[in-house]
This record gives sequence, C-alpha cells and structure tokens, in this order.
Amino acid sequence: MIVVLMGPPGAGKGTQAERLASQLALAHVASGDLFREAIAAGSPLGRLAQEYVDRGELVPDEIVVQMVLERLKQPDCARGVILDGFPRTVAQAEALEQALQAEGKQVDLVVELVVPEAVILERLTGRRTCRHCQAPYHVRFNPPTQPGLCDRCGEPLEQREDDREETVRHRLEVYQRQTAPLRAFYAERGLLHEVDGTGEVEEVAARLARIAEGA
Ligand code: AMP
Repeated sequence: MIVVLMGPPGAGKGTQAERLASQLALAHVASGDLFREAIAAGSPLGRLAQEYVDRGELVPDEIVVQMVLERLKQPDCARGVILDGFPRTVAQAEALEQALQAEGKQVDLVVELVVPEAVILERLTGRRTCRHCQAPYHVRFNPPTQPGLCDRCGEPLEQREDDREETVRHRLEVYQRQTAPLRAFYAERGLLHEVDGTGEVEEVAARLARIAEGA
C-alpha cells in the first residue's frame, strides 16, 4: 500500500505519518527528514539541499525525486510506505507515478490534512524535533515525558531553523503556490481525501485510520 500524506507545514504530517505507519506496518518516508539527516551528516546531498531548506524553498525536483526513489528501493519499503512531504510538486508526482508504474505499483491513497493558517503558526512555533531521530514534539500539545529530551532515544530536542515565524510564512506561500496544485492531480485520479487536521493528535489519527481502512 502506498499512501501520500499531504498538507501545509505544521499540518501534523510527521506525527500522523509515524502513527499510521506503525499501525499499518508500513515504512515512513519523510523527504524533509532525509534532507535534515543528510545536512547533519554533511554529505554532498546535504550540502546541495541546505540553502533551500534553510530558506524554506523547495529543493529542485531532480534532487528530491532521486533521493526518494532510492529510499523506496530499501527492503523496509517492500510492504508499502507512507510518503510524508513528497511529492510536493506536480513534476514530482508525475516522476513518482512513472517509477511506480514501471514496477506495476501505484499510489493507493492520498490524504491532505487541512488546517487553518492561524493554527499552523501556533503549532510550528512550539514544535520541537529530536535532533537524532527526528521524532516530533510540541511544547504544549505533545510534550516529551522529560522536558527537552526525546522519549524514544533520550537525545536533546531542538527547534528547527525553518520554524521561525518569517520562514514559516514563506513555507506556507510556497505550499499554496507549488504544492496545492497537486490536489487537482490526485483528485482527477480519484485518490484525494481531505481530512480535518485540527484537534487532538488522537482525534486526527482516528479520522485518518478510518480513511485508510476504507482504501
Ligand atoms: P518538511 O520537513 O517536510 O517541512 O521539509 C523541510 C524542507 O525540506 C522543505 O522546506 C524543503 O526545503 C525540503 N523538502 C522536503 N521535501 C521536499 C520535496 N518533496 N520537494 C522539495 N523540497 C522538499
């Protein structure tokens, strides 16, 4: 099963993708996490991506597509995957469709988490991420058991460089301009479902699980 989780920055994609992936025993592939890991490791890919990520711009399609398609070849993706943050442009969606078709596969379900802008700004300014394993937290809505430390691996949490308010506003504009047209692409294929992304993490997870069960 291949699920695409869409939504503006701060819609809760990372949190929900992780839960849904473990419920359905699918791999969770988050393009933003892959870039942050490459940047932290100082790899050539990381050096290429860093300036785009820091400015809240999209990394060029060829780079992202190659990185994600490589990741999808890993054995843990064989049963299926939740794609989080990819595709983000129509060109990426087309490249994904072609690559899957070549293997007799296809995207089975696309869910867009819908969240108003004011809620997004509140969420992102309180967001903290584990710098080691990228697990997502929020100082108010999803705090770790021990303040400032990751529940999963014990490493310190940090605020993402691109979660500053000015950069967040820019990322929201980028979403509207470059990613929102994907809705039409997937709606035409009868794959798109909109899910209300507001409320408690558990409530949103339950809405998503209902849709995934029906797919
Ligand atoms: P995210 O964690 O999904 O918000 O992604 C963080 C940043 O990584 C984005 O602001 C982009 O700079 C880059 N990025 C992640 N996924 C993509 C993608 N599919 N296409 C282009 N850039 C991406």
